[in-house]
Parts: sequence; C-alpha cells; structure tokens
Amino acid sequence: MSLQNLKNITSSLSNTPKMPVLFLGHGSPMNAIEENEFVASFRKLGQELPKPNAILCISAHWETKGTFVTAMQHPPTIHDFGGFPKALFDVQYPAPGSPELAVETKNLVTQTEVGLDDKWGLDHGAWSVIKHLYPNADIPVIQMSIDYSKPAQYHYDLAKEIQQLRHKGVLIVGSGNMVHNLRRIVWDKMNAGSYGFDWAIEANEKMKDFILNNNHKDLINFNKQGTAFNLSIPTPEHYMPLIYTLALKDNKNEEISIFNDQYVGGFSFYDLHQNSIKQNSIIR
Ligand code: ZN
Repeated sequence: MSLQNLKNITSSLSNTPKMPVLFLGHGSPMNAIEENEFVASFRKLGQELPKPNAILCISAHWETKGTFVTAMQHPPTIHDFGGFPKALFDVQYPAPGSPELAVETKNLVTQTEVGLDDKWGLDHGAWSVIKHLYPNADIPVIQMSIDYSKPAQYHYDLAKEIQQLRHKGVLIVGSGNMVHNLRRIVWDKMNAGSYGFDWAIEANEKMKDFILNNNHKDLINFNKQGTAFNLSIPTPEHYMPLIYTLALKDNKNEEISIFNDQYVGGFSFYDLHQNSIKQNSIIR
C-alpha cells in the first residue's frame, strides 16, 4: 500500500474501555536478552494489562525534525547500537505495523503535520521492552518520533491530542530513562540496586515526588530544577517519553504506580505505570 493510499484509510479501531499508559525505563539494550527482575516485571505487566488492539510507542531512540509515525505493514527490527554480543543483533521482533493507527494518529494531531514514515521500523527502545510485554509479537506496533527541535511543553501539548487513542484499545508506551547520563555510567555496577550517584538519587526522588503530586509544570521545566536534574538529563531524548506519558494522564481519576525503581550503574532504572482507577484491576 502506498503512503498516498494510506491517507484515505478511515478509522477501523473500535471504542474500548480506557487503556492504561506506560512509561518504561528501558535501561541497557541487554535487558532484551538477559533475565533479571526488570524484565520479569515487564512480563508480569504484559499478562495483567487488558489486551490492546495496538501499541503506540514513543521511543527515546527515534528523534527527527518534525513528528512522524511509522506507517508500514511490517516494521523491521532495527539494531541501533554497537558493541553488544551477536545474540542481541540476532533478536527479531516481527510484530505487524498498523497503517490504520498511523493514519488515525496523524488525523488526531492538529498542532503539527504528522508525517507517515515508511523507512524506520522498531528501534531497540521499542522492541527491547515490548518483547517482554508481548513475547508472541502478535499485537501491532507503531512508533511516533520525537521532534528534537521542540521543547517539552510542545511534546506535552502534542501528547494531549492523542488522548482519544486510549479509548480505542491503544496501549501508549513511552520508552526512555528519566535519569540517563552515559558519560558517567559505572559499568561494573550494573546489577539492580547496586549503586546510585547522589545526584541521580536526588533527581529520582524529586521526579517521583513531582509525578505523584501531578506537578507536571516542574517536570516540563526540567532544565530549571538545578544541578541534579541537569546531570540526570544532559540531553532530553530519554526524558521526553515521560512527558508524553504524563500528558496522557487524567489527573482527577487516575493513579500512578511505580515499579522497577532501582539504581543501576549509578542511575535509577526507573519505570512508571499509570492506569485509570475506575476500570483498574492492576493498581499496585
Ligand atoms: Zn536508550
């Protein structure tokens, strides 16, 4: 199907109970093939969530000028890293795409022209975590790119425009890391709970406090929060998926639960899971 034809597709996604939204700290790409408590949590989550019609993932690893959604029928598995074992390059995650969801997402967004992409696929920010949620690769997945030229408020406002997808059985997943500074990583302390820098602990605790108190303003203004935040977010791409997740929250009726809150290699390996209270059977 050509991209031109795609634009004429009308919505085929039916209404459903409201889906939860996830922010997943993906950590090292090795989590894709290693067994540890983080991936065990992802697996458990996949079994507990209502089965989605499709997944829309905002991954830290797809930055573009402008905003795009993947619109191909069969997104390739992208191995966008270097220096890892062959076993990691051998991983394939053959989930189908969803041109219908791509078009629906494009049509919902008014503040910018969302492009339909036929060249990307699933990068490791998406597949390294989604493969644990849905190991059979039987749920269609699309990605939405992060416009690197735009500030956090823009991403927050953009995410609000796709809120309706939560009522169409779409599981929206932000995949990044809230505290992420590769230049300062301590490679011999990569086990869970092993080590956290003072600044990583300080930023992590503040972020949790802001999140749990719905203080989105200070999270949007992350670059005005002082040294600990500046060290934790030296570049914004791993943080921005969190902004999407927060924007999709209904502050009055939804509760957030936090899991995999552990320090790894000096950082927090930090995940956040939010869900509606009303239809919720999985609050923890
Ligand atoms: Zn990453």
